[in-house]
Amino acid sequence: MILVTGGAGFIGSNFIREWLMHSNETVINLDKLTYAGNLQNLASISNDSRYIFIQGDIGCQELVSGLLEQYCPRAVINLAAESHVDRSIHGPGEFIQTNIVGTFQLLETVHAHWLTLDGQAKCGFRFLHVSTDEVFGSLESEEAAFTETHRYQPSSPYSASKASSDHLVNAYHKTYGLPTLMTNCSNNYGPYQFPEKLIPLMITNALVGKAMPVYGDGRQIRDWLYVSDHCSALRRVLETGRPGETYNIGGWNEKRNIDIVQTICALLQELVVPSPVGDYHKLITYVADRPGHDTRYAIDARKIERELNWKPAETFDSGIRKTVQWYLDNQDWIASVQTGSYRQWIDQHYGRS
Ligand code: NAD
Repeated sequence: MILVTGGAGFIGSNFIREWLMHSNETVINLDKLTYAGNLQNLASISNDSRYIFIQGDIGCQELVSGLLEQYCPRAVINLAAESHVDRSIHGPGEFIQTNIVGTFQLLETVHAHWLTLDGQAKCGFRFLHVSTDEVFGSLESEEAAFTETHRYQPSSPYSASKASSDHLVNAYHKTYGLPTLMTNCSNNYGPYQFPEKLIPLMITNALVGKAMPVYGDGRQIRDWLYVSDHCSALRRVLETGRPGETYNIGGWNEKRNIDIVQTICALLQELVVPSPVGDYHKLITYVADRPGHDTRYAIDARKIERELNWKPAETFDSGIRKTVQWYLDNQDWIASVQTGSYRQWIDQHYGRS
């Protein structure tokens, strides 16, 4: 049995659905169900006897220690987080609370539980912390991609809070011997991503003829990885990673934001017949840049490829095509998430056109 936190979010829900396709082992999903947590993402497995959902906060030590005692999972995979950079700029408090304090409280609870285990259970136990390449800060165009030993230099409250949590995880390994594993992954995209992030925001806006807002000159570079590839890497790290180690995960797909948006326009042009707006490219609108916007992230994924024999299955071309098609096929899902507080926030910060 494994315990996943944040399993109702984008990556967590993909991870749990795929876990159950590859394994018979039960998954407990502990999720607070913030605006980003959506149980509809898991509707296809909600009646599966190998799936248990618990609503709650990773920082609630009583709840988490009760779950660990009751189910005694062999691993905890920590995906719970506040994850949106723009939200962290407008309101960092929740990011500090969940990403730093929440991770600390989770580590405390897991450590106390781990100390009660013996023999095989103690040896085999793993705490896998899922983090981001944003902790490394911005790269110049000629600089080499981030390796696992790159200096931490986060720019946003989001990346600073993730960096803090990474340091805490490493400290629990070095100080207390907790068998931790850590991953730092590049930008994910794919099905079930909340439409506040670049790719789903562009697709969902374009489909209703709204402006496609691009920050600054759109030349910021990110490395992109299809979410299933991230999930397969997490399974590989969990099974064969060495405790105390960090693994970078990336797709060797450095792309400028504007090129991603142009690709989406071209795919929509091809896949939506007839187009309700004529040429989608006309919707591209440059908006004031994000404060502290990093210019380039790039991941050197050679360690996980070499040591754990992992490679992504998708190219960017195949992954982005699948993604656009998924949003076209799942417009009920889009409608259902575009309500309430999420809708208000999006309107306030990205405007209506
Ligand atoms: P997401 O925002 O889609 O989902 C986060 C989930 O965590 C939600 O279901 C939310 O309800 C839950 N949550 C938030 N606070 C919680 C708390 N205190 N207790 C329990 N649950 C809580 O995020 P995502 O994009 O799926 O990212 C998951 C993890 O992967 C995060 O740690 C993020 O930093 C990391 N990551 C994301 C990306 C990316 O491109 N999305 C890339 C690399 C790493």
